Amino acid sequence: MRVAVLGGGYAGLMVTRELEERLPPGDELVLVDETGEHLIQHELHRVIRYPTFADDIAIPLGELTTRAAIREATVTDIDADAGTVALADGEAIDYDACVVALGSQTADYDIPGVAEYATPLKRREHAATLRRDFLDAVETAGGTAVVVGGAGLSGIQTAGEFAELADREGVRDDVEVVLVERSDTVAPSFPENFRDAARNALRDLDVRLETGTEVTGVTATDVRTDGDAIPSDVLAWTGGVRGPDALGEER
Ligand SMILES: Cc1cc2nc3c(=O)[nH]c(=O)nc-3n(C[C@H](O)[C@H](O)[C@H](O)COP(=O)(O)OP(=O)(O)OC[C@H]3O[C@@H](n4cnc5c(N)ncnc54)[C@H](O)[C@@H]3O)c2cc1C
Repeated sequence: MRVAVLGGGYAGLMVTRELEERLPPGDELVLVDETGEHLIQHELHRVIRYPTFADDIAIPLGELTTRAAIREATVTDIDADAGTVALADGEAIDYDACVVALGSQTADYDIPGVAEYATPLKRREHAATLRRDFLDAVETAGGTAVVVGGAGLSGIQTAGEFAELADREGVRDDVEVVLVERSDTVAPSFPENFRDAARNALRDLDVRLETGTEVTGVTATDVRTDGDAIPSDVLAWTGGVRGPDALGEER
């Protein structure tokens, strides 16, 4: 029997490690991930402030597993009837059982300009891009406007990192960090005490909160909203998630 686990994030890695213990010795186990690394994703925002931290939170999957074969490849399609996973390199993996743990992709809700001008925060390179954009903007602009779209967990943490980075770079007075959220509160899906704590922490960092504000479009210089436009030199988009492309209609 061959078991395929798709995705080496938190879910896929935990399942793989469990299966390594439980599957009979003769069974095959293959873990497919397009990066070949396990990224401790919930710490990713810290890389905006501490770039070398990226090396600490990305661990080769081979170092975390014992018997699973690691396949570094992008899954493009899953045919559950045929028991086949299609890979971007043209190869396919046949399986008897398959665990789909491909995580999520950032949702831009087709808001004009978001895909073009905003940077999501899912991968190491995203954090590196946001840091670089921030440092470039600080160097070239008189005052720097940083906008974070979406005040869920990753948006809250990202806005906080930018504010802390401004402190660290000694440019706090020249930088305004704005967190925009469509709901009338930050962390809308969390309990009230958590929301209050998050709001207070952000205010302590001088992050400007624009709640109850819907982003309607993005240009190279502005975030358009249902209220006033907000100038933006750096734009991080943490506005939501959707299922991975590889799941097609089933995502
Ligand atoms: C900045 C940030 C801060 C966060 N903070 C918190 C927090 O404080 N608390 C909390 O509970 N959660 C937090 N989260 C959310 C948490 O990180 C996720 O819920 C968790 O990582 C989901 O795990 P997962 O295994 O489902 O998916 P992922 O961790 O996304 O793993 C998916 C894996 O699949 C791989 N993959 C994806 N598509 C393909 C493909 N087509 N082919 C091959 N491989 C593919 C990826 O390389 C990845 O390794 C945060 C997330 C972010 C981005």
